[in-house]
Amino acid sequence: MSRIVYVNGRYVPYAQASVHVEDRGFQFADAVYEVCQVLGGHLIDEPRHMARLARSLAELEIEAPMSAAALAHVMRETIKRNRVKDGLVYLQVTRGEGYGKREFTFPAKDVPRTVVCLARTTKPGAQDAAARTGISVKSMPDIRWKRCDIKTVMLLPACLAKQAAHDEGASEAWFVGADGYVTEGASSNAWIVSDGGSVITRQITTDILPGVTRATVMDMLAKENLTLEERPFRLEEALKAREAFITSATNIVMPVVRIDAAQIGDGKPGPVTLRLRSKFHQFANISGA
Ligand code: PMP
Repeated sequence: MSRIVYVNGRYVPYAQASVHVEDRGFQFADAVYEVCQVLGGHLIDEPRHMARLARSLAELEIEAPMSAAALAHVMRETIKRNRVKDGLVYLQVTRGEGYGKREFTFPAKDVPRTVVCLARTTKPGAQDAAARTGISVKSMPDIRWKRCDIKTVMLLPACLAKQAAHDEGASEAWFVGADGYVTEGASSNAWIVSDGGSVITRQITTDILPGVTRATVMDMLAKENLTLEERPFRLEEALKAREAFITSATNIVMPVVRIDAAQIGDGKPGPVTLRLRSKFHQFANISGA
């Protein structure tokens, strides 16, 4: 079956899907995006993802390209046309095409935004296999800008960090600020579990992305009577933590068993992490197909 991509009002074959060379997403990373998990044909935590998309657009003064209902329809139609049962849907909105002269200032308000939607199936069981052993993480200096709370496509620091991690056999990078505190993963939020069993993650500021999976895990912690400490933690504290994990829409809750040269806990996924992973979808919002 050929893949279909939504681009600016049309569902086109993958090979023919393109945006203009003057698109501001391409030239300036002047664009925002969302990635939502698809499970059994259902969208996971769609309301939170769409609320964050609206916020990202508003923070950058990009007018919404269409109504929330129309965006929801585009995502569902893209999922349907690609027959995705388990996988993900990717939605990107750019400020649109510039004036044809690579002008930094914004184009007129009536310039249409570019909207792209992709959906793809993920390998069944691949995530669960990784979760059984846990992943390794490499720490990296956080060289990103000061508005990491906005989900922009300006992902070069994340690409560089992930490549450096990959080169050392790690599958995620954890960014560490100049103050020695972990901010977040290159494409995930960072968590540790203390000896006392508290579950610790950095509070939301402009330094990190307000993860949707993070928010749902917090709901779960409250209902499961687990103690949450929303505070920054140093890399040294993480290296000595009893457990560590990351959260993201594509990984859900993924155990971390190594950070740099340090083994975390006994080097196996921890019980708190595995409990959160196994129960996650009981707490997530599951949308109609
Ligand atoms: N932080 C960053 C930098 C990310 O790219 C992501 C993935 N979107 C996350 C955190 C996790 O967010 P979510 O749970 O909404 O996928």
